Formats: sequence, structure tokens, C-alpha cells
Amino acid sequence: MAAKLLPEVEKFLASAPLKGIVGGKDVSGASGETMATLDPGTGRPIAEFCCLTAEDVDRAVGAATHAFKKSGWATMRPNERGALLHRLADAVEKHKEVIGQLEALDAGKLPAHALGDVQNFIDTLRYFTEMALHVEHRTTLAVSGHEARTVRHAWGPCGFIFPWNFPFLLVGWGISPALAAGNTVVIKPAEDTPLSTIYLGRLAREIGIPDGVINVVPGTGSVAGSALSGHPGLRHMSFTGSPEVGRLVAQAAGHNLVPVKLELGGKGAAVVFEDVDIPGTAQKLVNAITFHTGQVCCDATRWLVHKAIYKDFVDECKARLRSVQVGYQMADGTGMGPVVNAKQRARVLGYLEKGKAQGAEAVLAGGAAEVSGHDGFYVKPALLAGTLDNVAAREEIFGPVAFLAQFGNEDEAIAMANDTDYGLANSVWTSDLARANRVAESMVAGNSWINAHNVFPRGVPYGGVNKSGMGGGVLSIETLLDYYRPQSVVRPL
Ligand code: NAD
Repeated sequence: MAAKLLPEVEKFLASAPLKGIVGGKDVSGASGETMATLDPGTGRPIAEFCCLTAEDVDRAVGAATHAFKKSGWATMRPNERGALLHRLADAVEKHKEVIGQLEALDAGKLPAHALGDVQNFIDTLRYFTEMALHVEHRTTLAVSGHEARTVRHAWGPCGFIFPWNFPFLLVGWGISPALAAGNTVVIKPAEDTPLSTIYLGRLAREIGIPDGVINVVPGTGSVAGSALSGHPGLRHMSFTGSPEVGRLVAQAAGHNLVPVKLELGGKGAAVVFEDVDIPGTAQKLVNAITFHTGQVCCDATRWLVHKAIYKDFVDECKARLRSVQVGYQMADGTGMGPVVNAKQRARVLGYLEKGKAQGAEAVLAGGAAEVSGHDGFYVKPALLAGTLDNVAAREEIFGPVAFLAQFGNEDEAIAMANDTDYGLANSVWTSDLARANRVAESMVAGNSWINAHNVFPRGVPYGGVNKSGMGGGVLSIETLLDYYRPQSVVRPL
């Protein structure tokens, strides 16, 4: 059964091939090449979009530079810029259902989750817009013998490259602080999920964001992505995606000596002590690993469980995972939709095989799932168990697969949680809050959660260390301040 499309969604898709937006104009791309984005739940094309080239990206950075210097965006008073950004948030709110449906179709998300992502975008944009009103742009310094101050300016054109798992939400997390600070942006959405970002570019133009302030350059990573990350005209670069590509983006930014923010993958641990409520904790971790079919960078993918409760805990998880309804994302009753594409399904299935070949026990086998009438990219949830040197315990799978291991005491649990190249997010589960706080602070990662997983209140910095990222995180005052260029002004007295 095909999803019933909203009229506005039909109208948008009928305008395909969907073009990029550069300097306020629709741009087809110098090569004329297009690419299809698929519905992961059916495997069928939703729409063609234009693949922009290095030449187009160059024009987009040029447009962002021009807008920064000439449109008045960077120099207008923060409250005037704020009024425009609130107007953009209002427009997104007005079209929430439309963007939600585009996102659900394009990324294989359950509609309720897609709507949650759109709301998250709105809230994030308003949050940074309000915060920017209170940033002190000039701070007088009390320095003996000198008149001195620091000044904050916007950087200029900022580049953004995003992955396919949270296309719209991550655009909100990324560009909101940059725009609120007065920068202009060039956004490269993932080739699997360009729809909601192109729609946003059109909305921004319609509501009067000056041309060139928000540019969208859809296309492939190797062409549009690499041209953007290596563009010498950018003044700031932000990348969210895999560590492999993150390294290339960092190299390019390093070459241009441009500050770079990397939000990369993870291999998070959930450390479950013997004093937890077993059914409640099992359900929360099952929810975490099946949320967006496990395609969540900060997911708990290594479940480290105290040996005293290991068997009971695993039995609870197995039963709950078995009852998860795998289905078409747009169908009523679906608990877990598809993964994003055939490559991602092959990746998940490949890790199950590689993990077993290295001695992991398949506690819950997982594997490909059939969904009647829908030829999409479906997998079942899986649980592997074994030692943490297993490839499935070390590398990011990005699917509904958790790796189980047992520990005997707190020190061992901390050592196991930290036995990873990544450092994004872990959680600790116990009714002993002193222990929870000790363990949380001993984990080498950007984020430690207590008796919960995947928690993102605005105001709390979220970012990774080691192979999970660098250059500061997102969602807090520090993020906004990252988008101002610092300057000191001094006069000897
Ligand atoms: P990816 O690295 O393959 O692609 C991300 C983006 O980079 C895409 O837009 C892609 O087109 C582009 N790209 C590809 N090659 C490029 C190149 N040579 N130069 C410049 N850009 C290029 O990642 P993905 O598969 O889309 O997303 C999954 C990854 O993203 C996972 O590792 C996940 O953990 C990570 N992720 C991290 C966070 C976070 O906040 N830390 C959030 C979401 C996803």
C-alpha cells in the first residue's frame, strides 16, 4: 500500500527534478545530472533531485559570501534577524505535517518520529534565536594600564554536511546557532534524504530570508560534499556523519585552516547493574535500539549487564524485541520501519555474520525481515553476545543490533564501557545514585546518561570525543559562541 500523500507533498514532488537553492535561485547543476531518492519502505523512487557539482558549490559559497557582506544579514540588529528566524520557525510550524511526511517517506521514519524531528527543529531554531539576543558582543576587560575589550563577530559563510538518519532535526541543530549569530550557510544534505532540506530552502526564500543566507547544494558526497568541505571561501565547517568521511572533511578544513566541528559515530555502552528494575530497564533499552531502526549515532549498542541478573535481563529483552512489529513506516501499528537503503541492510546483515564468525553467540538471530507488499529494506532486531574484542562489539553497525557482555563489579564495568575507540554517549542503570554518578563521570565520552538513554535537553552540550568527534558539540550556549569570531581590541593608556 502506498502512503496517502498530502496535496502539498504531491505538489512539491511534482516539481521534480528538485533543484538546489543558490543565492535565492533554483539551480539544476552544471552537469545536468539527477539522482533518485528512494522510499526505504518500498525501495521505489520518490523523486529525482539535481546533483550539484563543484562549480555549483563554488557559486553557493560565493552567494553566501556576498549575502554575508552585502545583504545586511550579518549587520542587522540581533532582534531584527531574530524576527526573521522566528518567521522561518513559524513557516516550518505551519508546514509541519508536510515536512513530517516528506521526512517519513525519505528517511523511512515512523510519522510520529518524523513529526517529533520537525518540532525539534522548530524548538532549536527558536532556542538559539532567543539566546543570540542576549549574547554580549562587546565585553570590557579590566586590565591594568590598558583599555581593552573583546568583540564577537559572525564568521562569514559556514559549510554544513549532514547524514541521512536525522536529516531535518540535524539541520536545525547545525544551522540555527550559525544563523542566529549572523553567519550565512551552505548546506549539503545526504543524497539519501535531500527532500526536507530542499523544502526548507524554498520556505526560507518565501518568507523573506535574504537571498544567499541559506543555500542548499544537494548532490553526492564525493562531488558536492568534497567540493564544499574543501572550499577555501568558507570560514567555518561543520560535518555530521561517519568517522571515515569526518577525517576527510577535517583534512580539507585543516588545509584551509578553517575551524571544523565533527559530530561522528558511536558505539555507546549501557551499563546495567544488578539493582535495576529489570522489565523497565529492558523496555527502555529495547526502545533505544529499535528507535529509528537503530540508526542513531548515540545509541546504546553494547549492553554490559551485571552477571547476577544477566540471564533474566536477556530473557526480558529477547521477549520484548520479538514483539516489535517490523513494518512499512507509514502503516498503522508499525513499531520499527526499514533501514535507509540496501547498502545499510547489507551492512547490518554483514555484521551479524562477521560477529558470529568471530565467535559471538546469536542470542536473538535477527536477519532480513519480509514485510508483505513492501519490497523495502527491512531487518529484524538482533542480540549478539560474547567478548568485546568481537568486530560487532567494536565497530558501528547502525542497525537494531545490541552486543551483550557480562561484568562482575563496578571497575570492570567502567573498563569495559571505555574499551572502545569511540566516545559519544553511554548510560548507567542502577538505583544507587552515588554509584550512578561515579560511573557516569568515569566514562570517557561526551555524554553520560543516568537511567535513560538518548536524552537531549537544549542547554546541555552534546558532542563526542575520540573517534566520535571534535571541535565542540551542539545544543548549548557554547555552540552558539562557536559561531562568533573572537577579537580583542587593546589601547595602552
Ligand atoms: P557518511 O559519512 O557516509 O555521510 C555523511 C555526509 O557526508 C553525506 O551528506 C555524504 O554525502 C557526505 N560525504 C560523503 N563522502 C564525502 C566526502 N568525501 N566529502 C565530503 N562529504 C562527503 O554518513 P552517513 O552514512 O550518511 O551517516 C551515518 C553516520 O553518521 C554514522 O556514523 C553516525 O553515527 C553518524 N552520525 C553522527 C551524529 C552525531 O551527532 N554525532 C548524528 C547522526 C549521524
